[in-house]
Amino acid sequence: MDTEGQGLNSRIVATGMELLEGLAGEKPSVFERGRWAGRIIDWSLRNDEFRTRMLRFVDVFPSLSTPELLARHLREYFGDLDGQLPWPMERAMGAASAAGPLGIALISKAIRYSIEKLGSQFIVGDTAGKAMKRLARIRRDGCAFSIDILGEAVVSEEEADAYAAQYGTLIRDLEEAQKTWSPLASPGKGSSPLDWGYSPMVSISLKPSSLYSQMRPQNLQGSVRAVLRRLRPLCEQLIRAGAAMCIDMESYACKDISLEVYKALRGEYPNYGQLSMAVQAYLRETGNDLAGLLAWSGSVGLPIAVRLVKGAYWDYEVLKARQNGWTIPVYTNKAETDAAFERHARLVLQHHETAYLACGTHNIRSIAAALELAREMSVPPERYEFQVLYGMAEPVRRLLKSRVGRVRVYCPYGPIVPGMAYLVRRLLENTANQSFLRQMFSEQREPWLLLRDPLEAGGAGERQPGPEGKEKAPSARVCRPGGLSDAHPFTNQPQADFTSGEERRLFGEALAGVRQRLGRTYPLFINGVERSTPDTEASVNPADPAEVVGKLCQAGRKEADEAIGAALSAFRQWRDTDPAARAAYLLRAAAHLRSRRHELAAWQVLEIGKQWDQASADVGEAIDFLEYYARQMERLGRPRALPSPPGERNYSFYEPRGVAVVIAPWNFPLAISCGMVSAAIVTGNCVVYKPSPLTPVIGRHLVDAFKDALLPAGVFNYVPGRTEEIAEYLVDHPDVSTIAFTGSTEVGLRIIEKAASIRKGQSFVKRVICEMGGKNAIIIDEDADLDEAVPAVLSSAFGFQGQKCSSCSKVVVVESIYDAFVERLIGAAGSLAVGPAEDPAYSMGPVADEKARSRILKYIEIGQSEGKLLYQGTAPAGGNYVPLTILGEIEPHHRVAQEEIFGPVLVVMKAKTFEEALDAANSTRYALTGGVFSRSPGRLEEARRRFRVGNLYLNRQITGALVGRQPFGGFRLSGLGTKAGGEEYLLHFMDPRVVTENTARRGFVPEGDMEERRRGA
Ligand SMILES: Cc1cc2nc3c(=O)[nH]c(=O)nc-3n(C[C@H](O)[C@H](O)[C@H](O)COP(=O)(O)OP(=O)(O)OC[C@H]3O[C@@H](n4cnc5c(N)ncnc54)[C@H](O)[C@@H]3O)c2cc1C
Repeated sequence: MDTEGQGLNSRIVATGMELLEGLAGEKPSVFERGRWAGRIIDWSLRNDEFRTRMLRFVDVFPSLSTPELLARHLREYFGDLDGQLPWPMERAMGAASAAGPLGIALISKAIRYSIEKLGSQFIVGDTAGKAMKRLARIRRDGCAFSIDILGEAVVSEEEADAYAAQYGTLIRDLEEAQKTWSPLASPGKGSSPLDWGYSPMVSISLKPSSLYSQMRPQNLQGSVRAVLRRLRPLCEQLIRAGAAMCIDMESYACKDISLEVYKALRGEYPNYGQLSMAVQAYLRETGNDLAGLLAWSGSVGLPIAVRLVKGAYWDYEVLKARQNGWTIPVYTNKAETDAAFERHARLVLQHHETAYLACGTHNIRSIAAALELAREMSVPPERYEFQVLYGMAEPVRRLLKSRVGRVRVYCPYGPIVPGMAYLVRRLLENTANQSFLRQMFSEQREPWLLLRDPLEAGGAGERQPGPEGKEKAPSARVCRPGGLSDAHPFTNQPQADFTSGEERRLFGEALAGVRQRLGRTYPLFINGVERSTPDTEASVNPADPAEVVGKLCQAGRKEADEAIGAALSAFRQWRDTDPAARAAYLLRAAAHLRSRRHELAAWQVLEIGKQWDQASADVGEAIDFLEYYARQMERLGRPRALPSPPGERNYSFYEPRGVAVVIAPWNFPLAISCGMVSAAIVTGNCVVYKPSPLTPVIGRHLVDAFKDALLPAGVFNYVPGRTEEIAEYLVDHPDVSTIAFTGSTEVGLRIIEKAASIRKGQSFVKRVICEMGGKNAIIIDEDADLDEAVPAVLSSAFGFQGQKCSSCSKVVVVESIYDAFVERLIGAAGSLAVGPAEDPAYSMGPVADEKARSRILKYIEIGQSEGKLLYQGTAPAGGNYVPLTILGEIEPHHRVAQEEIFGPVLVVMKAKTFEEALDAANSTRYALTGGVFSRSPGRLEEARRRFRVGNLYLNRQITGALVGRQPFGGFRLSGLGTKAGGEEYLLHFMDPRVVTENTARRGFVPEGDMEERRRGA
């Protein structure tokens, strides 16, 4: 740090010391043990396990509608913490276990009262009346406010309308109320109707995501338009009321949309200077965003106002990025966030003539830094203010009020149920290790530690990030065989992160590029040679069947014979190739796919109607299969020593089976094809691959990948052809030893049956690896979080038009929550737009082809005759569209509850109890995927035991299994129990062999066993 910087830092520390002295002897109520909130926080600080359970309990609490439910959850959440609980809870627990109904009702009342009290610590009022009274009190105490209506997830457009309407009412109430208020003093400014002489008395804060239910980063412009549609009337109302508005910043996925909304609104209302935008210092991109915003303000000549905060979603952002393998968008060292806060405060203050700073923090170091920076740059007082959260740091608020004067309190308002997520965030914040308030008021850290320059405290020391760029995710691996798994353990290919403008741009370009190449003719690929045939078949875009994606040369039986012959000839050499070398081919193919990931996804958008994110996920899964199976083969390729007494050596190893036929589906056209093909190849088999006639162009890209990997001729052969012409022919062929199939149960069973007969010349029993259909259910328990359950059911049921084997096709809802769930489900379903997958504004696209369309429509008719139509959307004309359909009053024995529909049709069933729901979910011939939404540990445990499916998902969507993390596959009529993407999958493509050798010669056993060493057994 230079001398100038040291001088500034010393002044910041000196100011900080003064401020700390001003706080001496005070404590925010959240840390006062005499108060309920303080007591809970104190217990949470002392016991991590209690903290986790308490946060979960607070989260589920709003849905515990009966005393019995509350008592059960209390037992399940805290029952085994006997002796470690604070005494009032111990008492409540004891009573919950022992008391009769009357006692339980009393305890439930007490707990409800306590939690509501906890909520009231952070929420200015649960009714407008209470809120107005408290706001008036805040103003009497000399502080301004900004009020925010609580309500986290908006799942439907109706809910977004309702939310906007609530704001409308609130603004009207505030407009009325302000008539009775006096403006806050403006020393030296004479009398003014405005607070401090320049600021409106009414200010609201608002979250853009609550104004549009379908906000998605890949649909940036559409999301901005939709938010603006509801925001404009509010903005005009605020202008009329002479009030201010701040756009809150939410999770990273909403950031670019919110910034665009701000600029658009500011531009549309150039004379409305009371509009501010929150920015988060913890985001690595904020330096660039802020600079961009200031530059934009300069270029259009419009002053701006910025609320600078650190960011409230830190845990969520880190978790989400880690789960998806994305670069972490936030700083991971608290000092870096603090340093960025000071850097950004400086930048805004430097532009004080056109930029107003609202400094939103409770951290005394950050406050002192802002004050000293303002002083250093002689920023006039009316160009900045401080802001604090309601209920978080009253002493800091009082101190700022007396020292600075301009303090605004951010006041959340609304009923406790939608407010619970907010409350949980505040509890997390207050109990986090890194929290300034915790360190100061609970841990009583030394002042020098609290006021340390963040650059010295690690903001620069560990890693100077600079304002741009995110922390990099582990870079794509280029792996070499030989200790591969140890040197480069498998990790999933990150999906495209469309929050990144660069990813959106690349994807758009890929789509445009693919469009340029539509309509080409593709040959077969046999024995390493491209083979054209005069007979071709067109593959078309399901959104517009007149558009030809590609024309495919068709393999007849002659070409099928040639492909099998080529595979057979290549087999011996391929079988004897070192498994590690075989794995290396897969890795090279993975690198090829990775280098074209957007383009390969773009082909899927056009050839089968997958939405951007669905298509990207498919390509990611294909890459995962290659990487994963390469590593699995390295493990399985080594001979394994078996128990061997002296004089005898036993070991086992695996051998490939021969020619494998792969018959692939269209719904995961690259991923499943690639999974089956790569498993067969890496285990030493030679493959004849027949892609689905609906997605042969996508299948063709596997040829490019394996050509690029320099796979020897004959190991992989590509034979698109008409199913009736070659599919059974391939299955029946006496030279084919293994058949890998994914598709319908009907076809799968037929393959199994046919493969069982021995043909002339056949010298082995064929093996079939078969993944078939499903009738997957999600159970909604009485305490389910509907904010989570409704979007998860929708994405499971209607993602890629419900055409995944894992898709949800029935939802079984426990009676007590049925009406609430169905109402929100229907509202949310009605908000999904249907149209071509190419346009990211649409959540649902066309189904695979006309045949699928008429089959699904038939089922809708059947469903209507068996039950009742609860909701049906509209379907655009032209493509293979089917209206999104939800059917109710369905019984477990109905056809639509039993048969696979494979389209955007969801049936809803009602169950009296959770047990009955489990029975209904289990009552099909299938066992593929299933899901449960419940916040009861007991019910989740019961589901683990009793919900008999191959892949069970708890409290999340039931689609999107990841290689290695969720090996995928079902049993009963869903398949043979093979788990693709799991450790055992490759075994299906090999036969085990065991060698036993007598190493003794006339009683003599050689000491150094050279043979053993040579084999590495
Ligand atoms: C008036 C007001 C309005 C607000 N509006 C918003 C808003 O619109 N959007 C929003 O997201 N938040 C908002 N917040 C919340 C804010 O982002 C902070 O969560 C909160 O103020 C705590 O920060 P602090 O500076 O007071 O405390 P501090 O204890 O100094 O900072 C805590 C913050 O540091 C960051 N942090 C914690 N751990 C780490 C780590 N390991 N590495 C890096 N950084 C870390 C997090 O941002 C955390 O909230 C607002 C806060 C106020 C006061």
